[in-house]
Amino acid sequence: MATISTNLQAVLARIESAARVCGRIPETVSLLAVSKTWPASFVREAAAAGQRAFGENYVQEGVDKIREVARPDLAWHFIGPLQSNKTRPVAETFDWVHSVDRFRIAERLSQQRPEALPPLQVCLQVNISGEDSKSGVAPRDAPALARRIALLPRITLRGLMAIPAPAADRAAQREPFRRLRLLLEQMVREGLALDTLSMGMSNDIEAAIAEGATLVRVGTAIFGERTGS
Ligand SMILES: *Cc1c(COP(=O)(O)O)cnc(C)c1O
Repeated sequence: MATISTNLQAVLARIESAARVCGRIPETVSLLAVSKTWPASFVREAAAAGQRAFGENYVQEGVDKIREVARPDLAWHFIGPLQSNKTRPVAETFDWVHSVDRFRIAERLSQQRPEALPPLQVCLQVNISGEDSKSGVAPRDAPALARRIALLPRITLRGLMAIPAPAADRAAQREPFRRLRLLLEQMVREGLALDTLSMGMSNDIEAAIAEGATLVRVGTAIFGERTGS
């Protein structure tokens, strides 16, 4: 059976070759290991193999795991849907949030971020495939939302995140990633200081990197198939 360490090396090798193929420096793509549904022991194993950034989708599970792992050298990213009544534990515990899609959530995160911690690093989630069922701000509304959020004192707005609809092949996978990159480039031209494109998961990191991903979020390829979510 492949171990977490072996899987991690394989994913890093995929990132490296995907970056080289399109002339990018591999170090400009960082790996977020998505540990949702997996126990603290899996995080420790990945950390022992050198991984430092971990992603969680569920507030209570994430907060509990962060306490249990208890390693101050790890960075924790909240990447799941976030309701306004659950912002406080996220603001108090995580380093990043990728799933902000309305002002009210960002405002609460900023208000609730403890003074003793650095500002919370935030990405706007964009509904890039225009799916009714998906969370995320509509692409046309993203620039105005970003301008308001960028003014909040305890948040640093870093970029955009998306989870595109599944696609049949590599070319089709690239399409929504390309739209997200163009949106980020437009927002940077309009004066926002953004440097993060959070896109690409186990099945499509090559397509995401070809379109400029700076952070890929990988669960299954590192930890194995999840049952349920
Ligand atoms: C679960 C999840 C991932 C990881 O997906 P895999 O297909 O397991 O790599 C990435 N991003 C988000 C937002 C997720 O919920």
